[in-house]
Amino acid sequence: MSSLSTPVEELLRRLAAVRSAMREQGIDTVLLSVGHDLPYLTGYTAMPLERLTMLTVHTEGMPQLFVPRLEAPRVTEMPGLFDIVPWDETVEPLDLVAESCAGSSTIAIGDQTWARFVVGLTHRLPGVRWERAVGVVGDLRMRKSDAEILALRAAAAAVDEIAAELQRGEISLVGRTEADVSADLSRRILARGHEKVNFAIVAAGENAASPHHHPGNRVIKENEVVLCDFGGTMNGYCSDITRCVVTGEIPHDVAAAYEVLMAAQSAGVAAGKTGVACEAVDEVTRQIISDAGYGEYFVHRTGHGIGMEEHEDPYMVSGDCRLIEPGFAYSVEPGIYIPGKWGLRLEDIVVATDDGPVSLNRADHNLHSVCS
Ligand code: ZN
Ligand code: ZN
Ligand code: ZN
Repeated sequence: MSSLSTPVEELLRRLAAVRSAMREQGIDTVLLSVGHDLPYLTGYTAMPLERLTMLTVHTEGMPQLFVPRLEAPRVTEMPGLFDIVPWDETVEPLDLVAESCAGSSTIAIGDQTWARFVVGLTHRLPGVRWERAVGVVGDLRMRKSDAEILALRAAAAAVDEIAAELQRGEISLVGRTEADVSADLSRRILARGHEKVNFAIVAAGENAASPHHHPGNRVIKENEVVLCDFGGTMNGYCSDITRCVVTGEIPHDVAAAYEVLMAAQSAGVAAGKTGVACEAVDEVTRQIISDAGYGEYFVHRTGHGIGMEEHEDPYMVSGDCRLIEPGFAYSVEPGIYIPGKWGLRLEDIVVATDDGPVSLNRADHNLHSVCS
């Protein structure tokens, strides 16, 4: 993963910020395993194995990265940032981690840590108060650095080009299955420099009314809506874009709904000023869609944070009261879904700045008719 290329100075700065959050919150130790908090702090991504990889960060002293000995060669040494502690097959690594946590009364552990390890640790460390590490790492990860924003911008530009190809009719649709078009989008995502495809939703006609439809053997016909929502990981950071096209003339009811959707989406983007609550972005899009009579057909939140993960904090949804800060990156993706008929969604990734929200995606927002 190219998060390896994060300069060690940047990683040290992140570690220092995590430790100051730990002190503020009275957390003695942070434990990170699989998931993205570990590479965020160390540049190293743990394999999702039954063998334990775990970083222990106490408020002082050198953090230790416990890794299976056979994985140790994959770890890039970062002198001054953490020590590598390879463990042998005959050793129980949870004992080593528990030993390193001796004296800790409050421990925060990464969200994606496997239950087998969490349970094993709770048995070895009775009396410890357990918290989620997202409380100390998550806030930091929400505020993207300039380098992170550059990476998100590059990933967005890459998928914008694919969206433009779709809108120009250069990706043939009619007569192909959704799965085939999905594979086509995936190839293009990789060809544009992503190291990984995270998803390529292609949903035609009535299938588009299911927001997370899994592309299948449904053959795309003429005169229907095709919703494409795709993204991947490029240099460690994610892209995510949704555009819809119509394979023929745009029906009146679709055009009318799309006009509302476009207005809601752009108002949602514009609402993302720093100091405004995340949920306010959702309120703005939902209000416009509801006022036009489509409220019951907008069945999901307006957006999600994005970074090393496709979906991460914060969430643009009622109840997320966090105030938008410079560097927050998130999607604005309202949708209107008419069961049995069609669905529409329009999605851009937005970054909050002191000068207002900046949309990273620039692909045209209009509903294009592609005749093939
Ligand atoms: Zn989604
Ligand atoms: Zn998406
Ligand atoms: Zn999204």
